[in-house]
Order: sequence, then C-alpha cells, then structure tokens
Amino acid sequence: MISKKKALEMVDVIDGMFPDAECELRHDNPFELTIAVLLSAQCTDVLVNKVTKSLFEKYKTPEDYLNVSLEELQDDIRSIGLYRNKAKNIQKLCQSLLDNYDGIVPQTHKELESLAGVGRKTANVVMSVAFGEPSLAVDTHVERVSKRLGICRIKDNVRQVEDRLCSIIPRERWTKSHHQLIFFGRYHCVSRKPKCEVCPLLDDCREGQKRLRAGLVKVDGA
Ligand code: SF4
Repeated sequence: MISKKKALEMVDVIDGMFPDAECELRHDNPFELTIAVLLSAQCTDVLVNKVTKSLFEKYKTPEDYLNVSLEELQDDIRSIGLYRNKAKNIQKLCQSLLDNYDGIVPQTHKELESLAGVGRKTANVVMSVAFGEPSLAVDTHVERVSKRLGICRIKDNVRQVEDRLCSIIPRERWTKSHHQLIFFGRYHCVSRKPKCEVCPLLDDCREGQKRLRAGLVKVDGA
C-alpha cells in the first residue's frame, strides 16, 4: 500500500483531471435523489436518468409509490437491472418514510440507514449531495480505482476503503473527491480497458505497472 502522502498526490492529479465532477443522477429534491441512488445499484446513471425522467413525473411523494400495485411500479422501472427487488425496496422505503419521518427524508446517517433499501453508500450520497455534509461514498468505481492505484489493499472491504480514503483526503474535500474518483473510474480508469497509455498516474500505479510488465500497455518508447 502506498503512503498517505503519495495517495493524496494521486487524488490531486485526479482533481486536476475532473475539476467539475458532480452527481450525475437527475433529481430535484432529497426524495428523488434517494430513489435515484437506490435505482442506480449495478446500473449506469445514464439508464437511471432515462427511467426517472418519466418516473418522477408520475411519482412525486411516498404516497404516490404506495398508491400503485407492486406490479405497476415494477413495470415502470422494468428497464433497470434488479427491477423487481428495487420496486419492492422503493415501496418499503416509502412506507418507512411515512411511518417514521412524516414522509420526509431524514438528515442523519443513522436515520437514513434505518430505511429499507438504504445502505451506507446510499446514505453517504444523500447526506453529501442533498444535505451538504462531507461524505465519501464508496461505489464500484471508487473501490476499483483505489485498489488499482494501491491507495488501499486489494482485500479491503468497502468500509475499509472508505476509512482509508477519509484518512488521506481532507474532510472538506470528501464530497468533491467522491465525485472525482467516480468520474476517473467511469471515464478514464474504466473497468475493462483502463486508459493506462495516457494516464498521468501510470508511473506510480500498481495496476498500471502490472499491465505494463505484462505487455498490455504500449507507451511511446517502450
Ligand atoms: Fe487506471 Fe491504468 Fe491509470 Fe492505473 S495507470 S490508474 S490502471 S488508467
């Protein structure tokens, strides 16, 4: 695992690459954001946005989601992976919002995580994007990038990755860095074919150097 100093230098480079990174899930309020994040598990933001465009016109409140049958809601989100479970979770989430929080999305991690279908990652995103509290949610991109770069260990679980990143990056940068690491993983250090040839972090990257030695990366002069 690389030093915290080196890791922060890498985060600074990524900061320079994606200075305007932000949440790409379309939403107008904390409730819509919570639904969008719940739908985004194992699914691209682009597809979620396509579905929520009409979904959010039809469903505006927790009551709206509960006033239709599960089958109708499943139909409305059918193009999204795991739509059956996600529809169930949305209705459970809406029920617990009405039962415990007057239908309003709560503003603490603990309360958010008490809602059906809301885990630590979703709570972190809602707390940071909707309520402005610094948070560093670890999704598939953040985890992959952190491990490839050697910022954390390959065997680390999601919580260990989050703790490590939070110990390296100043608190006031957590939210921005979260979006920047996602953009870096989504558009540059992509899952199947990372752009190592043009990566400014190649010299120090654990995965990039491994790929270079294996002949998978061709750089000028090599
Ligand atoms: Fe990702 Fe390759 Fe850059 Fe490493 S060198 S961060 S694997 S793109």
